[in-house]
Amino acid sequence: MNKLGGEVSSIKFFTGKFGNKIDEDGLLSESIFGPIHDFRCKCGKLSLESCDSGKVCDRCNVICASSDLRIKTFGKITLVFPVIKPTKRKLFKKIVGKDHKHLLDPRKADALAVTSRYLSCSLDGLELNVVDTLAQVPFNYIIPIRITGIYSFILALKFANEVLNSSAAKELFDKKYIIDIIKVLPPDIRPVIKDPKKKNEYRYAEINKHYISLINQNNLNLSSRDVARAKEKDWFERLKYNLDNNIDDELVDPIIPEYDRASARYQYYVDLIYESVFKNISGKTGFIRSSILGKTIEFSARSVVIIDPSLEPYKIKVSRKILYKLWFPYFLYYLANYKDIDYNTLFDNYTQFENYDSHKEIFSEFLNWFCSEQNQNMVNECKETPSVKILIKKRQQEQEQKDDIFE
Ligand SMILES: [Zn+2]
Repeated sequence: MNKLGGEVSSIKFFTGKFGNKIDEDGLLSESIFGPIHDFRCKCGKLSLESCDSGKVCDRCNVICASSDLRIKTFGKITLVFPVIKPTKRKLFKKIVGKDHKHLLDPRKADALAVTSRYLSCSLDGLELNVVDTLAQVPFNYIIPIRITGIYSFILALKFANEVLNSSAAKELFDKKYIIDIIKVLPPDIRPVIKDPKKKNEYRYAEINKHYISLINQNNLNLSSRDVARAKEKDWFERLKYNLDNNIDDELVDPIIPEYDRASARYQYYVDLIYESVFKNISGKTGFIRSSILGKTIEFSARSVVIIDPSLEPYKIKVSRKILYKLWFPYFLYYLANYKDIDYNTLFDNYTQFENYDSHKEIFSEFLNWFCSEQNQNMVNECKETPSVKILIKKRQQEQEQKDDIFE
């Protein structure tokens, strides 16, 4: 049975005769990501917030809790073959070097088998490099595992860590730069909806597709999981024996290139998942700038100005409406200091909504004052640039003072 935050193992969203029941092992599972309905388990046995809150139903295994869980609970997919964490690729590029950079590119996996490369580990365990031949380099041990892809590369690193006790390799595993668990985003931020036009088809956020591909790979390779672990143990023992007895023998096994190809596919989909997460977070249309930061640019305006080319640059003007936006801080300063308008009124009447038309007259008055020569010195005094934030602060202070008097 699945637990909250558990393993997603099915490629189906829905199951059942009519395809309307959520697959509890799938990407929309209620037992993994939390209930769809507030404080109601899937079967309905637990449905009272007051007495069942926090309990897990023994029939459907869904927790009785707020449906908010579905926006913050991550699931996971455990990979049969480990991959390189896409955000740490730079580190691995250093080990691989320029000549072998294709090694880290899963799309070029097929071209790799032709040439030979090996991992060289310095005797102090601090340095790792990929080299062309098995020919000995002073103060380095060359691991006799032919690297033909991501799997064999990670295998060589594993050997450096487990058998040679290389601290550089240990770091890669300890800090989880090589990963075998991928987190699955909460379902409410990667929506799946039924296609209104086609029956039994769904439209969904792109990332769901990549998760499905990954689960597919897992189901295909599941039988290799234990075989690979057992083989690795065998190989390492053999290599260790060779190492202790000074036997030069390269590890050859026809299964390795096969695992390499499987690993490349894993790497490919994991890369896509990371890419699509970053695409959704960063940039102008990303989640942070569109939903979290909100309006970060105060006092700006945008407009297309088409000018008569015969005009001199200083003759180009902007409309008062735009100027109202651009000079809003100075306008507020003027109102506060020269018109004696208190901050409460300023905040309520001027900053809460933009309305040039109702302040037209007082704004022209401000412009005249601002542009008149006798006021130039006063304008220069205006060093503290007022902003909406400062205004809110001052308003709070004023309000507190008022409250104090009132009490
Ligand atoms: Zn239940």
